Amino acid sequence: MEHIYDTIIIGGGPAGYTAALYAARGGLDTVLLERMSAGGQMALTGDIDNYPGFEEGIDGFTLGMKMQQCAERFGAKTEYAEVSSVDFSQPVKRTETTGGAYLSKTVIIAAGANPRELGIAGEQELIGKGVHYCAHCDGRFYKDKTVAVIGGGNSAVADALYLSRLAKKVYVIHRRDTLRAERIYHEPLMKAENVEFLWYSTVSEFITDTRVTGISIKNVKTEAKTDILCDGVFVSIGRKPATDFLKGNVLLDKNGYIIADESTRTSVEGVFAAGDIRTKALRQVVTAAADGAVAAHYAEEYLAGK
Ligand code: NAP
Repeated sequence: MEHIYDTIIIGGGPAGYTAALYAARGGLDTVLLERMSAGGQMALTGDIDNYPGFEEGIDGFTLGMKMQQCAERFGAKTEYAEVSSVDFSQPVKRTETTGGAYLSKTVIIAAGANPRELGIAGEQELIGKGVHYCAHCDGRFYKDKTVAVIGGGNSAVADALYLSRLAKKVYVIHRRDTLRAERIYHEPLMKAENVEFLWYSTVSEFITDTRVTGISIKNVKTEAKTDILCDGVFVSIGRKPATDFLKGNVLLDKNGYIIADESTRTSVEGVFAAGDIRTKALRQVVTAAADGAVAAHYAEEYLAGK
């Protein structure tokens, strides 16, 4: 007979490991499924200085490891496997993974969101050869070189500022003439002497030999094309929720996020969505962690038949 867990948590970022901590500490038989390593997208972030309790800030990888240790201290188990599909049609829910099937009475989905791609020719093949999605992970390869950051949100601005301290020159390429990023983030960038903004601009092509040597930029107003030389391109145009494996099992919004309110309850009884993967106003480590606690609370309540 297959083992039936009280709760399966999908994803080992801040939402997942906080859910695991609360569930295991509350006595639930808990397993967390993670495809790579603890921390999720947070583990790719250099300094996190807006998660309370770390007065000097903390790097995302270390915080992820700490969150895992907190949950495992109370008996939560981590299995390293990628979820391929789910079946939530029965009271006992089935989660298929690369490591086999798991059964549970409740599921907390905390699989997060992945970087959005530009979708232009050659992008996939050039990953690691001049195309990057994480400045804090790969910026160190561009000391005293020229890089381009694509996007105008908080992430793009944070990435550009980080890179401006390493690289010789940073182009910020944005499709409008106003940054979406909050002022507190973009003011320091405006003052950086090695940063140049290219407004109303999108990338139309990568220029390459064996790797990126530049990009073709299109002005969206005039249609004029310009080539710029650069050694690396950091794509920072938002994220897409990791909901492909759900295939109609829970309701999603038009952008692919799981529809769930502050209770983290989804369209299916006993299934909860926590962190960046659900519809919400503010996607931060602290709000993901809060969701994890709330999801475990309502999973416990569901199991108690309340
Ligand atoms: P975002 O806020 O959605 O910004 C995405 C940016 O990319 C926008 O400027 C958008 O342009 C541009 N863009 C989207 N698709 C594009 C395309 N195909 N081609 C060119 N440009 C494109 O995403 P984010 O910056 O990754 O931030 C995600 C969330 O995390 C936000 O809620 C943000 O506040 C939060 N965040 C917070 C912090 C912090 O507080 N420390 C740091 C990073 C992120 P338009 O402006 O024209 O739409």
